[in-house]
Amino acid sequence: MKEASSDPQCFNDQMMSSLFKYRADLDIAKSLLTFVVNETDTLSYELLLSYLKACVKGGHDTEVSDVYEMMCARFPSLETAASSLFIKSFSKTERWREALNILQNINKVSLPSPRNYSKVISGAVMHGDSATAWALYDELTDMGNDPHQDTWEVLFRGGPREAGQEGSEQPGSGPQSEQQERLLGILRNMRDNQVYPQQRLVSTIKTWFESLPGQKWKGRWPTITTKGVCRCCGFVLESIQLTTEEYQQQKDVVMTNIQGKDVFKKTTPEEFNRFKEFVKQKPAFNVVVDGLNVANITTKGKQSETVLAVVSELERQGQVVLVLGREHMLEPSRSWDQHHMSLIQQKAHCFFTDNVSEDSSFLLYAALHSGKHCRFLSSALMRDHVKAYLPDGGSRRLFFKWQRGQRLVVDGCIAANRSVCFQSIPVYDTIVQSGDNTWHIPFEDSDEERTSCEVPQRWLCLTKTNKTVHVGRTVHS
Ligand SMILES: [Zn+2]
Repeated sequence: MKEASSDPQCFNDQMMSSLFKYRADLDIAKSLLTFVVNETDTLSYELLLSYLKACVKGGHDTEVSDVYEMMCARFPSLETAASSLFIKSFSKTERWREALNILQNINKVSLPSPRNYSKVISGAVMHGDSATAWALYDELTDMGNDPHQDTWEVLFRGGPREAGQEGSEQPGSGPQSEQQERLLGILRNMRDNQVYPQQRLVSTIKTWFESLPGQKWKGRWPTITTKGVCRCCGFVLESIQLTTEEYQQQKDVVMTNIQGKDVFKKTTPEEFNRFKEFVKQKPAFNVVVDGLNVANITTKGKQSETVLAVVSELERQGQVVLVLGREHMLEPSRSWDQHHMSLIQQKAHCFFTDNVSEDSSFLLYAALHSGKHCRFLSSALMRDHVKAYLPDGGSRRLFFKWQRGQRLVVDGCIAANRSVCFQSIPVYDTIVQSGDNTWHIPFEDSDEERTSCEVPQRWLCLTKTNKTVHVGRTVHS
């Protein structure tokens, strides 16, 4: 077979890849390696990489170590793919510190990958070195990376107890309480950044709380009343509404940032000033619609038809609407029917920006300028925006809260002969929250179909059972 092939080198590589693809026995892959060495007295990087993939996938740690020696001896450096595979494999074994070295070497030449960090952190935790695990965790987050949920899961699950930690410790002191404080910090971080844990992670969090010595935490899976009361413990969830002070604070920060230098990378100051002048001359809006974003809610029909359906419903409700669009929508095309466009302009105020402008700054400006009541329609999460402009946890939390409270979400799909419905916004906030001896954590149910801008429906309720639960700190207006 090989003689029939025009390129023997390529043949070997392809053969190894298909062995990997069809999950062939590792012995066959090994004999291919031996055959190649005997015949050519050399092994290519690609061939070893394919073999390595097969070894890592099958969990053959000894063979991985052998390939590591071989590759280090033959090649001056390893590229990211091989390095990541070694990290994955070594992290699970006694050689996890070598995974740490490989990670540091990757970081010298390229950007760190949260996936690689996750593996090494896991290795450190499993081998009882929580100091290294947290140092890596800090390194990862300080560089602005979001940790993977697996990383959090590993940290909450913890590893074997470290020497000197066993039994002797008083509650509230020493490395164990430091560890607790760090893990609670992860929950606070989820709160600030609107992160919802997945079901597996939330189960691990429940187990962690329940296993805290001498604290008697109990975790349950409640439903929440429409008024935001936990049916398990009676805790009243925080209101979704920002207070007047919070609103003002978040408005000031966002307004200053969106008019800063960065926004003009995609928008000219002239265009933005023209927009500000336009907004000034209009009444306060009730709803700001991101036209292009709404147009893509459905793939059926013309885009202009979708926007028209949404705008018509808002007009029927008596709302003062601003539609933000792009100039190209005003040119006749298959997607943009000009009859629809003129109806939209009769029903709503419209502003069309240059085709490359960044929409979220316009949307934020118009909505915040209009006031606390103003809602918006866009499924854009603006996470990049938040990351770039809002560096501290507090202002991020307020921004996300404002988003959750003011975002209109179309319920179901938009069809030609059906009127458009919007989902109702709950009175309570869907975010990690804590009270006296309670934590309430909303989480992603794997069975639940949810678009990125909808909030999850399921909660974990944690209460300390040896104390009376204090009910109802927050009162809804
Ligand atoms: Zn509860």
